Amino acid sequence: MTVLPIVISPDPRLKQRSEAVASITPDIIALVENMFDTMYASNGIGLAAVQVGVLKRVIVVDIEWHPRERHERTIAIRGNPIALINPEIVHSSEDERSHDEGCLSFPGHYSEVIRPDSITVRYQNLQGEECTLDATGLLSTCLQHEIDHMNGIVFVDHISRLKREFIMRKLIKAQKNATNLDS
Ligand SMILES: [Zn+2]
Repeated sequence: MTVLPIVISPDPRLKQRSEAVASITPDIIALVENMFDTMYASNGIGLAAVQVGVLKRVIVVDIEWHPRERHERTIAIRGNPIALINPEIVHSSEDERSHDEGCLSFPGHYSEVIRPDSITVRYQNLQGEECTLDATGLLSTCLQHEIDHMNGIVFVDHISRLKREFIMRKLIKAQKNATNLDS
């Protein structure tokens, strides 16, 4: 089990477009496993590769996992883990839903984001097979959030400039404080 460090905003990598995965190599499979470990350890329901500093079109989601105490430590009981390679939204509903979104790259910050309620995503699984997934509700929101990451878009890009600037100021301040503590 490898929990990787998470890229925290503001970091220029979060604004970059990730590259398509040409083939599912053992490195990609290891990356996916480490991304699941990192996501569960960080209490997240989704993670994009860029958030662990890898600019590849790879995301993992599991909106149904839950923590359980076992032998005096907390482990993640997997619910419905899905790894998506080169995911692409091929259809979005007219209906929308609003969700109070957070992001592991924006620790402690949340904001309502309105997105299409249902989407259809085309992707490759870890066997390299072409798959299609119809998602609605929270899974749809989560997938759209992660697919945004691969295009250099973060959830605060969907909110008002005023709210976004407020969150960015707090993050810059937190980063400065952390640097001061380190030195
Ligand atoms: Zn995120």
